Parts: sequence; C-alpha cells; structure tokens
Amino acid sequence: MSTPNMKDFYDCVVIGGGPAGGTAAAIVAESGVSTLLIERDPVPRFHVGESLMPECYWPLERLGLIDQVKRSGWQTKKSVQFVTHTGKESAPFFFRKHDERECSTTWQVERSEFDKMLYDRASELGADCFDRTRLIDVQTEAGETPDQPVARAVVVKTADGTEKTIGCKVVVDATGQQAFLAGKMGLKEI
Ligand SMILES: Cc1cc2nc3c(=O)[nH]c(=O)nc-3n(C[C@H](O)[C@H](O)[C@H](O)COP(=O)(O)OP(=O)(O)OC[C@H]3O[C@@H](n4cnc5c(N)ncnc54)[C@H](O)[C@@H]3O)c2cc1C
Repeated sequence: MSTPNMKDFYDCVVIGGGPAGGTAAAIVAESGVSTLLIERDPVPRFHVGESLMPECYWPLERLGLIDQVKRSGWQTKKSVQFVTHTGKESAPFFFRKHDERECSTTWQVERSEFDKMLYDRASELGADCFDRTRLIDVQTEAGETPDQPVARAVVVKTADGTEKTIGCKVVVDATGQQAFLAGKMGLKEI
C-alpha cells in the first residue's frame, strides 16, 4: 500500500489507531465518505488489552476480517474464569452455554498485530491513514447550543514535525484513555 498525501479537507477525521479508531475509520470510509485516520505512535505499536469477548465476532465479520482472524494462529478462547485477590476461583463461564452461535469461540490477540490489522483494513477501504501523526487541537465553532460545538478543523503534527491544519465536518475522538476532546471540553471526571 502506498502512503497517500494528506489532503487539506476530509469529511471525517478519526483520531487514534486503536480498535475503536481503526474500526470507525474502516466503516466510514467503506461508505464512501472521505476519511483521515491518524495515530501518534508508529504502527504497529504495543498496547495492553488482548482478551476479546464473543461479541467482537460480528464487527470483525462486518469488516471482512473474520477469516483473517481465524487464520491468525491467535489462541482461541471459549470461556472465562475470574480469580479473586485471595486466589478464590469463580465457576468457569462457557460462552457456548449462553450463545451457541460461532461467536462463542473468540481469541486472545496480540494487540500490536490486531490493531494494525484494523488500521490496514481502514486503508484498504479508502481511509487515508497516517501514523506518527499527533492531534494537537480541534478547532470548533458554536453549535446549536453552547455545549455542542461543531468541529471545523484539526491541527496535527505530522511525522516530519510539520504542523498542518485539516478542515473537516466530523471528528471521531478514539484516543482511548487520553479522551482528547473530553479533556479539551472539561468533561473528564476522575
Ligand atoms: C491493564 C489493562 C488490561 C486490559 N485488558 C483488556 C482485555 O483483556 N480485554 C479487553 O477487551 N480490554 C482490555 N483492556 C481495555 C482495552 O485496552 C481498551 O478497552 C482498548 O484499548 C480501547 O481501545 P480504543 O481504540 O478505544 O483505545 P486505545 O486502544 O487506547 O487507542 C487509542 C489510540 O489513540 C492514540 N492517541 C491518543 N492521543 C492521540 C493524539 N493526540 N493524536 C493521535 N493519536 C492519539 C493512542 O496512541 C492510541 O493508539 C485493558 C486495559 C488495561 C489498562
């Protein structure tokens, strides 16, 4: 896949190349909307959070990735069991007992590879994807109510250190725990 040039305007800008960002960018791009996906770290990048739950099956199928996941060699997972801090074990919870469909087998994934798979799929479906590209700011203007500003542009720092302002209609904040927009709007509660 060749690296695209970053345009001056996208309908949708997705921030963060984790599972949320990769999935959102893939689905939006597939529908024909011009989409930019940026991730501040180099892709692939290390991340914790590798144990999938059964319902992940359906979005992976929708994205056309389920056969790739089945071929991946990742450890399959058919149940969960919890252990308390004192070592007491809960009864195992077998997914198939509660839902007999194919989603009852899920996976313990390597997050660096899993997230890259979604990032690459977004690119295949038409999103322009840039890693080592950090969101610096989201420029907004007043919306219908004061607490509903409308995104007009994002300011990003690209891999070569250049700051670039990209116009947009919609920003999807998929920055995970950083919750960039919630921080900017003072909505974070700890
Ligand atoms: C210790 C631990 C164990 C966990 N175990 C599990 C588990 O077993 N199973 C499970 O399902 N979940 C687990 N989780 C939760 C899981 O990690 C998260 O739910 C998941 O990573 C959220 O995905 P996301 O795409 O929303 O965010 P993330 O995966 O965090 O992705 C956000 C991305 O945004 C990027 N980013 C942030 N700020 C910017 C910026 N300004 N500009 C550009 N990019 C930016 C980050 O670099 C990051 O790559 C665990 C979490 C922790 C902390």
